[in-house]
Amino acid sequence: MRYYSTRSKNNAVNFATAALTGLAPDGGLFVPEEIPQYPQAVLSSLGTMDYRDIALETIKPYVRGEIPDTVLEDIVQSAYPFTAPLVGVGGRFILELFHGPTAAFKDFGARFMARAFAYLRRGEEKPLHILVATSGDTGGAVADGFFQVPGISVTVLYPKGRITPLQEKQIAGLGGNISALAVEGSFDDCQRLVKAALADENLKKKTALSSANSINISRLIPQAVYYTAAAGRAFAGRTDPDGEATPRKGTGSREWGVGSVVSKHSEVTNTQSQQTTPPPPTPHSPLPITLCVPSGNFGNLTAGLYALKMGAPIKQFIAATNINKTVPDYLASGEYQARTSQATISNAMDVGAPSNFERMAAHFSWEEMRRVIVGVSVSDEETRETIARVYHEAGYFLDPHSAVGWKGVDKLIAENKIDGQVGVLSTAHPAKFSETVEPLVGPAPVPASLAHAMQRTVNSQTIPAEVSALLEALL
Ligand SMILES: *Cc1c(COP(=O)(O)O)cnc(C)c1O
Repeated sequence: MRYYSTRSKNNAVNFATAALTGLAPDGGLFVPEEIPQYPQAVLSSLGTMDYRDIALETIKPYVRGEIPDTVLEDIVQSAYPFTAPLVGVGGRFILELFHGPTAAFKDFGARFMARAFAYLRRGEEKPLHILVATSGDTGGAVADGFFQVPGISVTVLYPKGRITPLQEKQIAGLGGNISALAVEGSFDDCQRLVKAALADENLKKKTALSSANSINISRLIPQAVYYTAAAGRAFAGRTDPDGEATPRKGTGSREWGVGSVVSKHSEVTNTQSQQTTPPPPTPHSPLPITLCVPSGNFGNLTAGLYALKMGAPIKQFIAATNINKTVPDYLASGEYQARTSQATISNAMDVGAPSNFERMAAHFSWEEMRRVIVGVSVSDEETRETIARVYHEAGYFLDPHSAVGWKGVDKLIAENKIDGQVGVLSTAHPAKFSETVEPLVGPAPVPASLAHAMQRTVNSQTIPAEVSALLEALL
């Protein structure tokens, strides 16, 4: 597959170059020359296929000729010991994307990216150094993904005192090939320092440098997999049993782990009386599902658009944002106006100028986008109210980001803007945002991965928000 920049169709590159350089030289984002189609045989068996097999079928055409099938199979097997269960909650589907080691959906992209990088750089002598700026979730996923990957080291820059203690442990508690720098400044300062270091000639002579932010195509493609897997399950009238980390009311960690056998809705046993059953199976009139994506930088939703174009049985998307509603406003008016971001309780979505919008616009016109995406925005007050209500009515803990998605669906149903079966992507585990969730509904059950991370000791170096300080720390 060839990849070209969203800003010019000249100078197409292969997957390795697109992935290892991240941003195109002209400042654009790499997009695939064409979106491949799933073979019919794959589409008709999605409902029963193993997650890793769907991953293999999804990613294969994007890396053809560069990563052999057998290697890709190994990458996918080692990247995904966890899956993305589609469970029933209060008459809707929830696609749980938090069963990975850092309990947020970014694990799906980061773990594939790390393994793909290691393979694509085989035989290289110069070690690769990855710089990444984070406002919280990305740093943990990238650190975890690249931990102990040979030939690659990572430096994560985060704003000192502005991430949660748990996030800090996920970033700065691993050690080994992962270094952490606490920057005395904001997330924007961290990003500015990374950009400056990536362009520093002196540093470039010493080591190969790369970045791992969410505009990297190798993080995006593996995110298409869970859309296809979920849509295939729903189309076949199936859901998955709860996973180890499914945050139901009254479940302790010891009672989790129902197993990974696929079961029909009607066979799902309800152990909690508060739990509402998902919609009944419709095996004779299968319908594509509408999926609601809590969005910030719009990498996740862009991956969903790829899954749709590849042929996954998806009816429509909902782009649910907090008050940073640049994209919902664009969908309504046709005018794109980036803004400065405003702080909210769903802070991983506090983005006023979503970078991946450039990719969406490269594939779809405004009219086309309006046909497949419905926009909606949700306030902090509505988000809090939703966390409490879903807990009391359906016995399920939502994190603030997923609650934005849930409330977005409520609003659109009330306005008659959507119908049919709906699934909400749950982008993080509620225990990851306990500062917000616990005062509303009490403590959510803590998954094993987070309990483990909480025991780590933070080991990071504090630097002022100056380029010279970063260069000194790196050289
Ligand atoms: C990163 C993140 C988002 C936003 O995803 P985008 O791909 O940037 O739209 C939403 N929720 C959580 C928990 C995140 O970490």
